[in-house]
Amino acid sequence: QFPFGRRLPCDIYWHGVSFHDNNIFSGQVNKFPGMMETVRKITLSRAMRTMQDLFPLEYNFYPRSWILPEELPLFVAEVRMLKDRNPSWKPTFIVKPDGGCQGDGIYLIKDPSDIRLTGSIQSRPAVVQEYICKPLLVDKLKFDIRLYVLLKSLEPLEIYIAKDGLSRFCTEPYQEPTLKNLHQVFMHLTNYSLNIHSGNFIHSASVNTGSKRTFSSILCRLSSRGADVKKLWSDIISLVIKTIIALTPELKVYYQSDIPAGKPGPTCFQILGFDILLMKNLKPMLLEVNANPSMRIEHEQELSPGVFENVPSPVDEEVKVAVIRDTLRLVDPQKKKKKDTQDSLLRVVSAFCIIWSMKDKQHKHHSLKLSLKLKFYLKLGSCPSLEQAAEASEELPEAALPSLCLKQVFPKYAKQFSYLRLVDRVAALFIRFLGVKGTTKLGPTGFRTFIRNCKLSNSNFSMAAVDILYIDITRRWNSMGIDHKESGMCLQAFVEAFFCLAQRKYKSRPLHDQVASLIELCECRLAALHGKRLVWGCG
Ligand code: ADP
Repeated sequence: QFPFGRRLPCDIYWHGVSFHDNNIFSGQVNKFPGMMETVRKITLSRAMRTMQDLFPLEYNFYPRSWILPEELPLFVAEVRMLKDRNPSWKPTFIVKPDGGCQGDGIYLIKDPSDIRLTGSIQSRPAVVQEYICKPLLVDKLKFDIRLYVLLKSLEPLEIYIAKDGLSRFCTEPYQEPTLKNLHQVFMHLTNYSLNIHSGNFIHSASVNTGSKRTFSSILCRLSSRGADVKKLWSDIISLVIKTIIALTPELKVYYQSDIPAGKPGPTCFQILGFDILLMKNLKPMLLEVNANPSMRIEHEQELSPGVFENVPSPVDEEVKVAVIRDTLRLVDPQKKKKKDTQDSLLRVVSAFCIIWSMKDKQHKHHSLKLSLKLKFYLKLGSCPSLEQAAEASEELPEAALPSLCLKQVFPKYAKQFSYLRLVDRVAALFIRFLGVKGTTKLGPTGFRTFIRNCKLSNSNFSMAAVDILYIDITRRWNSMGIDHKESGMCLQAFVEAFFCLAQRKYKSRPLHDQVASLIELCECRLAALHGKRLVWGCG
């Protein structure tokens, strides 16, 4: 900790809240620029909606959501339409203020007309979402899962998932929502920060009882009931990978703006908290992603009225210590150096073994040279015996640590998911035309250049129409925008414009097909243009 400022560069920077520190030019930072903004309720819902538009089946693990206030009319109309189509549908919705956490300002409603739009909390932008009425219950209680995910690198994408997580329980037996019980937060909301205030909250010294348990203890229980726990894990892994795929385009825009390619800067990694709810049929549903998950391993206990003490929480300790330890192991800057040293050492040891076994005088000088090398690597005072050498080669600190709790899932399963990374490629086009480094919005000239270089305008789609498209979409996004700092077209607006162009060009095909075709066309035309420029440059 550097309360009075830091003078020397570090290998790893562990920031409390966000990426920002203007004085970092190397090493690794435990936060990505823009992560907090990207996982806010509204931004996450938008990113998930884009993916749901492209791949509705693959992204059905996120509840149907609308953004308030701007999508209130749409919400009302869609609910009315769905109810007309299916009169037996009796939905419940959950309203969550944007940027809120710990259950702050959340309430349940049965009808769109119950939305509260006045009052300071109510006038905040919010997400209204279909409420999952049939969650899986354990001991008659609703619970959710907090899983820790390490985003180790954005480019190339590297994702790790912790093998164990936390299960956080409600403190009142669950009943499906009715007008009478809608307000009972201890029945419907699993937040620790809320339930801790219930008289029924149980702090347990064991990891498989009480109001906070390990996820592995729940899995054991499910497995003993005959549930397919392997399938559940594989569904959770795909939920995590797909969610990160939805977030990467926005993160890349922030990344290039804060750490432009080619300039000295740090690399980033980040531990994320995924909140997941299991439905009765064991389908995992994403509730939200937390950019700053609590890493506390203690909880407060009231000794006497008003007197609190921090006491260790065995469940938190079991899960969180492993996550931090393994994150540090995975991002350890010495790791590569150690691996290189170990490889050279093993090469020297095997050569040494061969020559020693020859016991040939001609090779004595080789053996002498090698033993000197060994001394250097092993930092031993005398020429080691083979046993000593073998022992030393295994004497890496890694060997003394427990096996990794963080399991790599990407690129391990990259092949299965790469077809979903379409918006990433749209974001790459966007970044290419951003122009001036340090910005996250595209100006009208950048948009025109994109259209011109990709040869997308023609007699049916004039440059004047291009300008109108830019103005229309940009104005709408900026009018509902959270970020008023910069003018211009944000990534999500560009994605909307891109989808429009794709639909216009490749009529009557599924959206993902239209978008993929337009991406390929643009990439091809830009590559050809780049090739031409190189040739002209040479000429
Ligand atoms: P916060 O950031 O305030 O914790 P969450 O989105 O995590 O907001 O919601 C708080 C709690 O509300 C969750 O832990 C979960 O118990 C419940 N919840 C949230 N969304 C839903 C939903 N769509 N269906 C059922 N329960 C939900």
